[in-house]
Amino acid sequence: MPFNLHTCPCQITPVSNAISSVLAYQDCCQPYHDDVTRLGGITADTAERLMRTRYSAFVLVKPDYIVKTTLPAQQALLDEKAIETWAKETDWAGLAIVQHVPQLGKRHAQVAFKAYFNTVDGIQAHHELSAFVKVTDKAHHDARWYFLDPTVAMTVTQKQPCICGSGEKFKRCCGSYLI
Ligand SMILES: [Zn+2]
Ligand SMILES: [Zn+2]
Repeated sequence: MPFNLHTCPCQITPVSNAISSVLAYQDCCQPYHDDVTRLGGITADTAERLMRTRYSAFVLVKPDYIVKTTLPAQQALLDEKAIETWAKETDWAGLAIVQHVPQLGKRHAQVAFKAYFNTVDGIQAHHELSAFVKVTDKAHHDARWYFLDPTVAMTVTQKQPCICGSGEKFKRCCGSYLI
């Protein structure tokens, strides 16, 4: 039995045969979850790390973390209650990172993954290719990775400055990952 109650949700994969040393929640995603609102707190240094902590936050029903790790310009447009309901109603079964492209252009990254969940018909996987952007955070005096949510309707036009604050045109920056 490789997993126990203390195994971090992001370390559980229903498809891997390799039983390597899985991390406990406290050694994996918990420090990120606990620190998300803290000034100078621990932040994900790669898009994959952020993606894992977001998956764990869904499993452990921490909608606040999901909101705070989405691009700041999109946060107010998220439905935290709906995220909470979806997280609760899903019977999560594991995560597999398919591919991590750590650097795309100047400030983006992509992570392809499968999030597994149990249904009456057995285990199923939700496949997703997620985009992330690294934003210089003036309030925290650092640069942080944020999830770009393609389901949030943005009112920005292609020629306007990007919503991530990079100073580039939207279409040349995050716009290419949000359409
Ligand atoms: Zn984890
Ligand atoms: Zn941008």
